[in-house]
Amino acid sequence: MIIAMDGPAGAGKSTVARITAQKLGFLYIDTGAMYRALTLKAMELNIGVNDTAALIEMARTASIDLVNNAQGVLTVFLDGKDVSAPIRHPRITKLVSDIAKIKGVRVIMLELQRKLGLARDSVLDGRDIGTVVFPDADRKFYIDADFNERARRRYKELKEAGQDITLQDIENDLRNRDNIDSTRECAPLKKADDAIFIDTTNLAIEEVVNKVLGYING
Ligand code: C5P
Repeated sequence: MIIAMDGPAGAGKSTVARITAQKLGFLYIDTGAMYRALTLKAMELNIGVNDTAALIEMARTASIDLVNNAQGVLTVFLDGKDVSAPIRHPRITKLVSDIAKIKGVRVIMLELQRKLGLARDSVLDGRDIGTVVFPDADRKFYIDADFNERARRRYKELKEAGQDITLQDIENDLRNRDNIDSTRECAPLKKADDAIFIDTTNLAIEEVVNKVLGYING
């Protein structure tokens, strides 16, 4: 079974996807983490975001693995190295959407995401899972929330993770990524026609998970 979960950053999508996968015993595939890992690699190799050919070649040769433990915690490996922490750095967040908008890069990630998803029952979270990666997914969700609430949640999450960041930084980042992700030519962020829309603005995570599980089991 394939469960697709799309939506913008800060809507609660990743947490809901991770808990849902854990409850169902499914694999959790964080596709944003894959684009983040590529962005980290580009930074390490000093490849600029406009050097499309070099970025595509880099994506082609990169090895990205996602490993779930029994608690549902995800470890992201890039070329055999655990990069779970560095891929969350604000420097990566700032650049990731510029790399993720490159068609040649997306084609390579799409193949990897399909391969991972088809190997086991999976919950995939991202921007284009229900529209492009798995248009025939068994269940599709589009998770969204008010902009201010998304910013507030992301701020709290990053502060708790020890990042030195202001609410203004977060708002700028979300606005920038929302804009690039939803206006790009290739696989833009949008709700699939047959996705179930959930507005999480006034809902706790458990309430969203229960709704999702209700639709999956219903
Ligand atoms: O999910 P997360 O916020 O970590 O994703 C980081 C970025 O990766 C997004 O802002 C988007 O630019 C890109 N992304 C994407 N397609 C996906 C998942 C993420 O373009 N399926």
